[in-house]
Amino acid sequence: MSTSIEPSPENDAPLEHFALPRKIIREVRACASTAADQPEGDIFYLWLQMTVGTPAVAVAGEQWLNVIDEAASVGVNWLVISMGDGVGNIEVTEAMCRWAQDTHQMTVCLHTTMSAPDPMLRTMVCALPKSETYLLVEPSFDAAFAELKAAGIQVALASPESPEAHSACDYPCKMVYVDACGSLYTCGLVAGEREFFLGSVFSGSLEHIVHHPELPHSVDALDTRPKDGCSGCPPLVAKYLCRH
Ligand code: SF4
Repeated sequence: MSTSIEPSPENDAPLEHFALPRKIIREVRACASTAADQPEGDIFYLWLQMTVGTPAVAVAGEQWLNVIDEAASVGVNWLVISMGDGVGNIEVTEAMCRWAQDTHQMTVCLHTTMSAPDPMLRTMVCALPKSETYLLVEPSFDAAFAELKAAGIQVALASPESPEAHSACDYPCKMVYVDACGSLYTCGLVAGEREFFLGSVFSGSLEHIVHHPELPHSVDALDTRPKDGCSGCPPLVAKYLCRH
């Protein structure tokens, strides 16, 4: 599938096409008590990958908040932040969680591939609202997070079930995926693949990108890709949590 939007290294470009007036959003959102009160949009999930190697130009803290604002404006109410096996800039991550929860009433999932809880991660998770926060862990490390579960933290599996390998996945039509450099892809499984590149948070309107009919909003063939590439996928996790 061809697109008219090409990957760009211009990550230091101005954000005026992407950022929304945060003050206005906060005031509008403050009129509603929960996310359930918001009119439904056609996008529900935002998946942010905070660590992909060591990107030369990464999205900065304030810019992540702009991404969350923009996503909220198109209906997102469920956020997954994939942190890899470290904590990265824990202050930025906590600010993002609080912004998403306090301003936009989003459910927040922190996705870690750590084999055991890091003290900094533990402190941050415990400080967030327990009913609106999940910690997503890899199934093989689940037992190591028992202490956090006992402390009342909602710990869930990052890959509770695998999508059908031979059928197309249309979850991306309800999701926005953004990598650490601000590039948007159809989903985390195909991040970095040129044919699934959707645009950049630095150069386009998110609403335009998610409604662009020529951009790929589904993944056809899962059988040639590693199954663990779907770990942390927001609709996959949410579907499982809603059933249990
Ligand atoms: S990560 Fe996997 S389950 Fe999620 S949208 Fe992509 S293909 Fe579907």
